[in-house]
Amino acid sequence: MNGRSTEIAVIGAGPAGAHLASRLAAEGRDVVLFDPRGAWEKPCGGGVPTRAIREFAFILEDSSYPRKLVRRITLISPLDRRVTLELDEPFAVFSREVLNRLVLDRAIDSGAEFVREDVVDFSRECEDWVLSTSGGKKFRAKFLVGADGAASPTRRRLVGIFPKQDLALAFGYNITVDDLQTAYQSGGAAASQREPIADEVVVRFPREFTGYLWAFPRPGVMNFGVASKLGERTSNELRELLMEFVRGYYGGRMPGSERMNFFGAKIPTLDLASWKDLKTTGESWALIGDAAGFADPITGEGIYYAFKSADLLADSLTHPTVNRNGRSDSSAHTGSAEYERATASYDAAWLEAFGRDLEHASFRLPHFYHGQFFGRIFTDAMILLARHHRGVRTILSRALVGEQSYVTLKRDLVRRAWRVF
Ligand SMILES: Cc1cc2nc3c(=O)[nH]c(=O)nc-3n(C[C@H](O)[C@H](O)[C@H](O)COP(=O)(O)OP(=O)(O)OC[C@H]3O[C@@H](n4cnc5c(N)ncnc54)[C@H](O)[C@@H]3O)c2cc1C
Repeated sequence: MNGRSTEIAVIGAGPAGAHLASRLAAEGRDVVLFDPRGAWEKPCGGGVPTRAIREFAFILEDSSYPRKLVRRITLISPLDRRVTLELDEPFAVFSREVLNRLVLDRAIDSGAEFVREDVVDFSRECEDWVLSTSGGKKFRAKFLVGADGAASPTRRRLVGIFPKQDLALAFGYNITVDDLQTAYQSGGAAASQREPIADEVVVRFPREFTGYLWAFPRPGVMNFGVASKLGERTSNELRELLMEFVRGYYGGRMPGSERMNFFGAKIPTLDLASWKDLKTTGESWALIGDAAGFADPITGEGIYYAFKSADLLADSLTHPTVNRNGRSDSSAHTGSAEYERATASYDAAWLEAFGRDLEHASFRLPHFYHGQFFGRIFTDAMILLARHHRGVRTILSRALVGEQSYVTLKRDLVRRAWRVF
């Protein structure tokens, strides 16, 4: 076969793939990163949780990548009860084109080769992977990484697609910010309730609904969306809910269609049973980010897990090998035994770092959206409690920025609830 030989081929240059390529290339590893779109406006809210900003400081280091820092979140319950939380530490909202450019630029600067083409096929030949691209190029690699998102063609080939119960469907609008919003924010006639203010996130939990609606401010754009378990509502029903929410946000008027960009996509939100034998690695391959199924089943938040899983795989692949003389042997890191150790280490690492908590989130999901708490709808009770109790506001704020473990969420809430009900 003619074509370039490399050590590691990474399919997909979203946050997961580009961050992995950047980490590996910085360690001197030979990496080729593939994506036909380069940096693009992936359908997404673009909310980067505080935990991600804290662990991956580079996300905010360069202000030439514009983002909004958000400290205020208003939650609206199924019974229309509201609470506004002020966060001690902000989270960031990016346009996805900007966030993807940031990580892709880092990967290229670190020395990864970027190929702006689809991987259309790959196969195993002896100990190598042979990849073909949409541009007719061939590559030979020792290790293959699928970082190609929720619809991952790599996953489809190596494991199989996500079944319906493991996915959520999301629709949204990116709406250019204009005078209409400003008018409403300064108290337009139709604004009967407290108006949303700039740089505030709004989250609404509709009744009998496994998911939520959101409004995220970005530089120059408001991002609105709705996400729900796939198959629970029809596409038309979701679009109706979304339009009603957008209309409500703007005080009863829809913005002009020329400013509205519609999008739709799926998010992996694994069912409880699917965590038990989730396969994310095999012989000289691994999946990261959405392709692996790593998103919060309750919130659909996956950007942190994309970065984190990439980081954990990079750690597993770059651990120095100790040879028989007890010396570090960097030449040994391309052998299949080394990859076997790396994939085993990665599997253990993601399970420990976030796997158990996400599995617990899947367990909690039915209760979170459909359960009762002290005789009230759970989300309504949470919001009611938060209005009256600082401790509950703290727990909720921590949950929203990704710092409250799902394993202890209910216990922590119950401890505070008895003082209110
Ligand atoms: C509507 C919506 C809103 C969301 N909002 C949020 C949010 O606010 N906060 C949050 O944390 N998460 C959010 N998520 C989830 C978040 O978007 C994902 O978890 C995150 O993008 C996963 O990153 P990734 O790198 O794994 O995959 P992706 O970002 O999906 O990147 C995969 C890349 O693979 C490329 N690719 C696909 N096929 C091939 C191929 N054959 N060859 C080469 N490249 C290929 C694609 O072009 C793409 O660039 C949202 C998701 C949706 C759908």
